[in-house]
Amino acid sequence: MRAMQLERVGGPLRPVQRPVPQAGPGQLLVRVLACGVCRTDLHLLDGEVAIPQLPRVLGHQIVGEAPGGGLVGIPWLAWTCGECAYCTTGRENLCPRARFTGRDVDGGFAEWAVADERFCFPIPGGYPALQAAPLLCAGLIGHRAFRMCGGARRIGVFGFGAAGHVLCQVARHERREIHAFTRPGDEAAQAFALELGAASAAGSDEAAPASLDAAIIFAPDGALVPVALRAVAPGGTVVCGGIHMSDIPSFAYADLWQERTLRSVANLTRADAQEFLALAPQVPVETHVHRYALEAANEALADLRAGRFTGAAVVVPDHS
Ligand SMILES: [Zn+2]
Ligand SMILES: [Zn+2]
Repeated sequence: MRAMQLERVGGPLRPVQRPVPQAGPGQLLVRVLACGVCRTDLHLLDGEVAIPQLPRVLGHQIVGEAPGGGLVGIPWLAWTCGECAYCTTGRENLCPRARFTGRDVDGGFAEWAVADERFCFPIPGGYPALQAAPLLCAGLIGHRAFRMCGGARRIGVFGFGAAGHVLCQVARHERREIHAFTRPGDEAAQAFALELGAASAAGSDEAAPASLDAAIIFAPDGALVPVALRAVAPGGTVVCGGIHMSDIPSFAYADLWQERTLRSVANLTRADAQEFLALAPQVPVETHVHRYALEAANEALADLRAGRFTGAAVVVPDHS
């Protein structure tokens, strides 16, 4: 099969021919129809998130055809131990032995992929593979971050990319207000946020139009943490939604005081995936995707880094 593999930190991904992987006991072999591109893929490529062993096929938002037909989704969480203090208390996302798709096991920038069937999910009916792919990380880790905001009515979203564009639709469905903050001057992302129903959209260097009840930071920029803390009202929460961020500059305790909460979100649980994949068709979430051929995965990653598209990038292998 054809695959795009990472051979050394810094990349690029290299197109290679590899044997089609074989499904072991309890595993599914799926024909990859689409695989979303995530900012985490950039962090893996850049070495900001370590990969235990190279070469590795990246890609953890896989939609494929299962052996019996039907679409299955393969997310970032590939395996957990099931025995540790985290796994046995509903927090398998924090399992210290967890394995992740496209980091510890090969992912979806390939024609075929295998996955532990206990960590695969049926794709809700009506979603073509291309549209479903971004639900699997942008959608469901974004949703976990959104849930960490509790009952917040007015939520700021810093970095309006794939996760923001899904979350905005869910928030609107729940009659909550989203205020989008983009890279300063990114008018395309701001217009896109307003199109999706955001109450306001501005550069992250601009003041929030109103005091926020919560904020989620998807942009990997630690300097946004104090900015977001200052934008939330007393008692508000700031959630960091990414796997990696640049260092957070020091800030005055007054920015945190008055019971503001600062927290991160890590990975996902299978319960998150079930909850979000049941919710998405009710909204219904419509993803805006930019399609790239498998061989153009490096281009997709470069476009994501440069902010050259709105919505989500998806890599699609040509099986013909
Ligand atoms: Zn991801
Ligand atoms: Zn565990």
